[in-house]
Amino acid sequence: MMGGLEMNILVQKFGGTSVESHQKMIEVSNIIKDTKEKGYDVVVVVSAMGRSGSPYATDTLIELCKQANEVVSDRELDLIMSCGEIISGSILVHTLKRGGLDSILLTGGQAGIVTDEKYGDASVIQIDPINVIENLKEGKVVVVTGFQGITRSGEVTTLGRGGSDTSAVILGAGLNVKVVEIYTDVDGIMTADPRIEDSAQVITNINYDEVFQMADKGAKVIHPRAVEIAKNNNIIVKIKNTFNPSEGTSIGGCITHNIDTYKSSKDGKLITAVAHKNRLTQILIENCQEELFTDILTDIEKNNISMDMINFFIKEKIFTIDSDKTNILKQILDSYKVEYKIVKDCSKVTLIGSKITGIPGVMAQIVKTLTKENIKILQTSDSHMTISILVEENNIKKAVNALHREFRLSEIKAIY
Ligand code: ADP
Ligand code: ASP
Ligand code: MG
Repeated sequence: MMGGLEMNILVQKFGGTSVESHQKMIEVSNIIKDTKEKGYDVVVVVSAMGRSGSPYATDTLIELCKQANEVVSDRELDLIMSCGEIISGSILVHTLKRGGLDSILLTGGQAGIVTDEKYGDASVIQIDPINVIENLKEGKVVVVTGFQGITRSGEVTTLGRGGSDTSAVILGAGLNVKVVEIYTDVDGIMTADPRIEDSAQVITNINYDEVFQMADKGAKVIHPRAVEIAKNNNIIVKIKNTFNPSEGTSIGGCITHNIDTYKSSKDGKLITAVAHKNRLTQILIENCQEELFTDILTDIEKNNISMDMINFFIKEKIFTIDSDKTNILKQILDSYKVEYKIVKDCSKVTLIGSKITGIPGVMAQIVKTLTKENIKILQTSDSHMTISILVEENNIKKAVNALHREFRLSEIKAIY
């Protein structure tokens, strides 16, 4: 029940590659038409058209701004980035109308997505999709621009790169739906990125926690915040291929679902997936007094630099940052005149599995596998369901392939 009317709402999100051309928009509109014919009230969330290199993709819009001035202001950057989704949403609405479906485009703000003021990586603080409901009641397909919201004072914000997934799930939460469908260019969530691991397999069912870790550790297929919101609202998220109808992946695992369905490693394997993240820089600060280091940390935070793989020892502090923050971090360290070393072009490979906790021998196996491939281990870190290894970026494919082979394809089961 929604708004006093019996409604059967389905939210379907289509990523950049699904809407990159007119022909693909037609395929997307056919999926929407099918859903509508099955009796659903359809809310569609769209990403900007295509990936880097496409004329209206988010990366292209950022580049346009950077051509004007290398120092881009966050507010104006969010405004230009929000245009990508407006362009693709407008074209989709026209495609739907041409196919005989009444439809309307709403911006994130018009759809009731209210965020905080953190330009470029805003968090949703309120969702009030009254406008969406009104239009659904009129029988329209409601297309909502992904990746954006509005602050209480009316400023346009974006939700972090890949944030259209978050838009879809937050709308699902506001509309009280049980399922959100995310359409993309792969068959589902896989045991590794299929672009670098040929033998990656689709995971049919996976629990929120494991997929959150995968997303957080670089598996782009879904945004980590979308997973968090889905978990908090008991929403099942289905990942499907726009261009290849198949079962896809179902993400769930709270008490209202059949938990057994979402248990990890039902195949008995210790590791559910291997994720990776590129464009990282490793920082080693040497001989730094604690007090000075505290000041450095404060400056790092002020400059919005997020630190990862943090290992602090008495003499040495080691951590990683995203490589696009390298210059600003160097400026900070230079201003404190501390000794430091920087290792650019690093990547992190992460093994994920709920069963990994406290199992002896996994690290030994990882080291053996990477050493056999002559891959230098720069650093490691772990959490209760992950083990991450920092390697040189030119070794990342080899590392993913070797670890996937060792932990997913071999017969190694949870016997450690
Ligand atoms: P969209 O534009 O549809 O949001 P994204 O590029 O954000 O698509 O995410 C889909 C991509 O995620 C795939 O093309 C794939 O290369 C990448 N990816 C990384 N890790 C995984 C994984 N474990 N399973 C599936 N896809 C993955
Ligand atoms: N277009 C935005 C991006 O490229 C959001 C998204 O695709 O989810 O990051
Ligand atoms: Mg995406």
